[in-house]
Parts: sequence; structure tokens; C-alpha cells
Amino acid sequence: MSEIFDIAIVGGGIVGASVAHALAGRRSVVLLEQEEALGYHSTGRSAAEFTRRFHSDVVGQLTTASVEFLQTPPDGFTDIDLLRPRGNLMIADMEKKERLKKVFETERSNTPKGANQIETLSVAQAIEKVPFLDETWVAAAFYDPDCWDVEVENLLQGYIRSAKNSGTQVMQGASVICAHRENGAWTIDTTKGVVRAKIVVNAAGGWADTVAELFGLEALGIIPHRRTAISVKVPDFDLSHMPEVNEIDEVFYFKPDAGQLMISPADETPVDPHDAWPEELDIAYAAHYLTECTTLEVKHVAHSWAGLRTFAKDRLPVIGHSSQVEGFFWLAALGGYGIQTSPAVGQIAAALLTDTSIPDVVTQTGLGADVFSPKRFGG
Ligand SMILES: Cc1cc2nc3c(=O)[nH]c(=O)nc-3n(C[C@H](O)[C@H](O)[C@H](O)COP(=O)(O)OP(=O)(O)OC[C@H]3O[C@@H](n4cnc5c(N)ncnc54)[C@H](O)[C@@H]3O)c2cc1C
Repeated sequence: MSEIFDIAIVGGGIVGASVAHALAGRRSVVLLEQEEALGYHSTGRSAAEFTRRFHSDVVGQLTTASVEFLQTPPDGFTDIDLLRPRGNLMIADMEKKERLKKVFETERSNTPKGANQIETLSVAQAIEKVPFLDETWVAAAFYDPDCWDVEVENLLQGYIRSAKNSGTQVMQGASVICAHRENGAWTIDTTKGVVRAKIVVNAAGGWADTVAELFGLEALGIIPHRRTAISVKVPDFDLSHMPEVNEIDEVFYFKPDAGQLMISPADETPVDPHDAWPEELDIAYAAHYLTECTTLEVKHVAHSWAGLRTFAKDRLPVIGHSSQVEGFFWLAALGGYGIQTSPAVGQIAAALLTDTSIPDVVTQTGLGADVFSPKRFGG
């Protein structure tokens, strides 16, 4: 390719796709994804949950700034609703009964703007919502209506379609191998050939530090953490309207997923970036937690998988121009909330890349871009 793009985005997960969409033809853009399929890594392995609560203040603000887009996306973005009501049942055993009450009080006094109230449930009411909960295990519960399933694939494809319609070129199977900068532009060697661009956006998820090093930067300590999920068949129950269920300290959670029940032991094991797979022990934990708090038996695990949740040291996203190297932009460390915050994250990144104002929908939450700057890690 002899063309010099304004921007090359490395990474075709939800984050790279969201900024490609948000740039909306204001710059010439190429998106480089090492895999043949977009969203193959973390994006394709999430629990697909959008929840208004249980976040740090900043992630709560990013979430609030993303609600409107997900509820009413632009015309032509998608044929189906991106959010489907799910609800979230928080449960505790006898040992954590008082702890659940405390969490309830804290969350109730911090109800996010536009959110509904959470409500305490009796054990009988909890079992009405999830009939296979074990009444001898559950000692306390409350219900959070502000939890939805996200149609992740439709969201991803919506971003990509919109970006392509604005002229973005998408190269799949194009792994970035090395790069050098001369005369104000990067020459990027990929497995699909050479690409040239003035600015590179590092949206490489678990590989963010690895990709930064390819461009001559120092790593910022952005570490992928493995999380496991299994799914089991629960043939005797209609799962379609069942809420997600979370142990009060997220020791585990489970939710309906494509007609089966998905369970995660909420593991968070630091790993090197790789195509994540589940460890036997974590699969066993997932099955154990489910059988402990319900009357279900797990005789067969229908499917198991693992993905990477990638965190910076302060567990906040890293979004902004590098102060180390010209023409390098960080867009990484979206932890366990990269799907649900992608509309706001994409818009913040696009504003910084085009030197324009952060959109009102973000600033109205009290959020500015400084909190995300890589400079906080010397980056
Ligand atoms: C089990 C699990 C449950 C989760 N549940 C939720 C949830 O309910 N809600 C929520 O909002 N979030 C959830 N998350 C988190 C969410 O999935 C992530 O925050 C999000 O997917 C991160 O997106 P990304 O684009 O940064 O990363 P990725 O989707 O991993 O994309 C990064 C891409 O960069 C590419 N890449 C890397 N190196 C190169 C290279 N050298 N050249 C070219 N391409 C490269 C990779 O192939 C990859 O496709 C969950 C995650 C997991 C694992």
C-alpha cells in the first residue's frame, strides 16, 4: 500500500471497532487485526452484560455516557435492539448476610442517574425468580433491574459496518510484526504487507504492551488476566426470563446464555497475552459454585472457554497520546467492562485523535479525558 493513512488502528476487537466508528470519516483510517475474524479474543468471550451498578466512579461515568448509544443507536446501525432486559439477582449465604445488607445500602444511596431503585427480596421471592436456588444456601438477596444482555456481535458488526461506510479499510489476518517511523509517518510491517500511517492507535487488548514495544515504547504494565466460563444444560427450567445471579462479592456468577446456563468462577489470573483456554481447576470451581447454591447437579459441561480481561495498575482505561513517542496513541486496559463502555470510550478516543471537544454525553457525567492519560504511568 503506498497510501499514507492518517490513522492505523491495531486491534479489531470492540475497542478498535468503536474508535473506527467514532472517527466517522474525519480521518483516513485502516484497521489491522491479526486474526481472520474480528472480535476473536476478549470481545467474543465476554459475559455480554451491561450493568449500571457495582463499578468504580469512573467506570460508572463511562457506563452512563454509553447508555443512550446502546439504547438508541444511530439509524441503520443495527436491525435489532442492542440491549435486552435481564435483571440481576444478588445473593449471599448466611455468612455474608450482613455484607449483602451493607452493599444494598451503599448501592441504594448511589443510584446512577436515570437508573431504577434496587429492591430487597425475601428468600422466597428470590427463589420465585430463580426456582433452582437452594433455600438452605441463600440467606439474603436483592434485585437490580438495571442489568441487560448486550448483543455483542451486532454491536461489533455495527461499528465495523459504519466505519467501512465512512471509508475505513479493514485488514483481517494482518498481524503487526514491526514498525519504524520516518518523516512523520509509521511504516508498519504486517503479515498482509506494509501499511503506512501518521498515527497508530494501540487497541490490541491483552497485547497492548507487546504492541507498544513493537513501536519502540516502554510497556506500561497493562496485564491480561484470564477469566473462565462454562455452560451447562438445564433442561427442566425455562431460563429465558431468568435474571443473572451474582454472589454478593462476585465469587461467582451465572446467567442464561443461548438457551443454556453460563457460569463463571470470576477467576482473575494474571497471564501473558495468548489465545486463552480454561484450566481444569477453574472449570471445576465453576461447577462447584453452581451446585453449592442451587439444587442443580452438573453431570456434563456442555462448553467451556476463557478470555482475557486486561487491566492497568489502577484498573482504569488508558486512552491518550503517548508522551514518549510521537504518533502513538494508547487505547487499552478495558478490564471487564470494555463492551458496555465502548460507545463512550470510542468517542473519547476519537475526540483526542481529531483534537476536538469530548462530546457532551461524556462531559455531562463529570468525566474529562485526563483521568485516562498514559502519562499517569510515564507513558
Ligand atoms: C469471561 C469474560 C467476561 C466478560 N464480561 C464482560 C461483560 O459482561 N461486559 C463487558 O462490558 N465486558 C466484559 N468483559 C470484558 C470485555 O470482553 C473486554 O473489556 C473487551 O472485549 C476488550 O476489548 P478489546 O478490543 O480491548 O480487546 P480484544 O477483543 O481482545 O481485541 C484486541 C485485538 O487486538 C488484536 N491484536 C493483538 N495484537 C495484534 C497485532 N500484533 N497485530 C494485529 N492485531 C493484534 C487481537 O487479535 C484482538 O482481536 C469480559 C471479558 C471476559 C474474558
